[in-house]
Amino acid sequence: MPLFVIQKHDARNLHYDFRLEVDGVLKSWAVPKGPSMDPAEKRLAVYTEDHAMAHADFEGIIAEGEYGAGSVIVWDRGTYDNVREEKENKSMAASMDSGKIEIQLEGKKLRGGFVLFRTGKGGAKNWLLKKVKDPLARPGSSILEEAPQSVISGRTIEEMRGGESR
Ligand code: MN
Repeated sequence: MPLFVIQKHDARNLHYDFRLEVDGVLKSWAVPKGPSMDPAEKRLAVYTEDHAMAHADFEGIIAEGEYGAGSVIVWDRGTYDNVREEKENKSMAASMDSGKIEIQLEGKKLRGGFVLFRTGKGGAKNWLLKKVKDPLARPGSSILEEAPQSVISGRTIEEMRGGESR
């Protein structure tokens, strides 16, 4: 099963990097407001540059002056399943080209169906991330507030920034 990872990244602007393993790299979107388990919430996801698979484990401090300078925690991690593969024999690459991705996430925090679709507004980089209505959906909830810690170290982004350990 391919990997997904979400890194909370306190750079110039706080955002969540949503990454999916596709053909040996991490396809990436920056989600300023982060993901939600509430199907009513559509979150802007700005398509950004691919990252190497090795980056999936990274948390720590990126030094001033370097790309992405700031603190990073691994907010969620797990595997995903490409729903369109089963339904329409569409690979992830083909799904991305078509502007619609349907996946099932098996993370520690995010679970069940999610869709990512290109908005067609504000350039090709703008997508929306949304929870599918399914039995795992949690309307009205805020998983970001309920579970702010790293799934690797248990640290919050504030603790990471302050250099505190648990
Ligand atoms: Mn980032």
